[in-house]
Amino acid sequence: MSGHVPSPVRDIIDLSHPLDDDTPVYPGDPVARFSPATTIGEHGYNVLHVSMGSQTGTHVDAPYHFLENGARVDELPLDLFLAPAVVADVRGKEPHEPITWADLAPVADRLGPGRMLLLHTGWDVHWGTDAYFDHPFLDGDAAARVVAAGVRTVGLDALSLDETVLGGEPSAGFAAHDAVLGAGGVIIENLRNLAAIRSAAPVVSVLPLRLAGADGAPVRAVAFDV
Ligand SMILES: [Zn+2]
Repeated sequence: MSGHVPSPVRDIIDLSHPLDDDTPVYPGDPVARFSPATTIGEHGYNVLHVSMGSQTGTHVDAPYHFLENGARVDELPLDLFLAPAVVADVRGKEPHEPITWADLAPVADRLGPGRMLLLHTGWDVHWGTDAYFDHPFLDGDAAARVVAAGVRTVGLDALSLDETVLGGEPSAGFAAHDAVLGAGGVIIENLRNLAAIRSAAPVVSVLPLRLAGADGAPVRAVAFDV
């Protein structure tokens, strides 16, 4: 009892996948590898050697991911990564099915500047299986309307905001990436556990590693139920 200060946060919900050698990556991206650089047995202390791409696991995309002159991940204002979030329930989609503006109608009036939009597809249950790559995606028109509403942070619990086509480009291109990143916004991919958020107005943190000049970075994504 003594000395215990009550937290202003009711619950902290982990929205991040664990990073390990089995982490699925976007087709063509570097695979993640983790191996001991030193061990307590040999050197007296443990240090891990970490090798992975900038867009591995639960991560954010900076505008520079698709735009040569876009902002790098270390140049962006931190309020893009720590903000009240609107969670849109878009579960029940088929593989490769677009998420449309009509699907976002129930939350449309809550979208606005300073708000993060998180698409709850439920596709995180497929993490580690082939089905994970056949995820639903945000339609380009819907992405443009989300951006027009003032939103600059859009995330989802799937591999990519645009469709993933193994061995090729999606037929609609990268329209959702273009819409969000082109407006100076950021994208969060490979979230998980959005079902555990109970608050209608959670605060979500996806603060990225400060990788200098990078196109993106891994994050520890969490929701604060307040
Ligand atoms: Zn990405």
